[in-house]
Amino acid sequence: MDASAPIVGVLALQGDFEDHAESLRRQGLCTREVRSARDLVGIAAIVLPGGESTTMLKLLDVEGLWAPLGRALQSGMPVMATCAGLILLAQHVENPSQRSYGILPVTVVRNGYGRQLHSGTFALRSDVLPKGTTGTFIRAPKITRVGPGCEVLAWRDGDPVLVQQGNVLAACFHPELEERHPVTERFAAMVRANGAGGTAMGGCVGGCG
Ligand code: GLN
Repeated sequence: MDASAPIVGVLALQGDFEDHAESLRRQGLCTREVRSARDLVGIAAIVLPGGESTTMLKLLDVEGLWAPLGRALQSGMPVMATCAGLILLAQHVENPSQRSYGILPVTVVRNGYGRQLHSGTFALRSDVLPKGTTGTFIRAPKITRVGPGCEVLAWRDGDPVLVQQGNVLAACFHPELEERHPVTERFAAMVRANGAGGTAMGGCVGGCG
């Protein structure tokens, strides 16, 4: 184990956090499942996975994690949010409206591509991702507004599906479902460029790559 490897915290209350952790370890990063405020100490970056955003909101309250996670998200550390994670970060959430951290200036419509029937893998259009990159959408939110300062990095048909503002990268789809996805690689590069906010000495649960 590389004791100086940055630790990426993966919010592990619900959803597909295990796939995220595994795909990050494949990038040589060290991961820690985050279930309580204590788990946030010493992490260099954080991932908010897909799942069910309403359930995550409830569990964040139950675990007393809403405010501590909010402080971590505002700290400037690299953040990757996918699907339900994106919903948690959005400034405005519709269908129905619900509480969110609001650190990303976008409006999202929950299940905006329809429900299970409209889930699947779709081609992405992007100037920054390799040609032929696809995204798997599962009851995905649709981004209907992107505010100033927020860059759109990929589209599905005419809709933005990958956005970045500063160190915050957010996708409507699930890069963690693929063994190596350019979005996971981009996030890993952001984490490395940002350096170790914390190190593996602090406790790396789940192993290091
Ligand atoms: N439909 C879910 C929600 O609104 C998100 C789906 C996902 O994360 N795959 O929270």
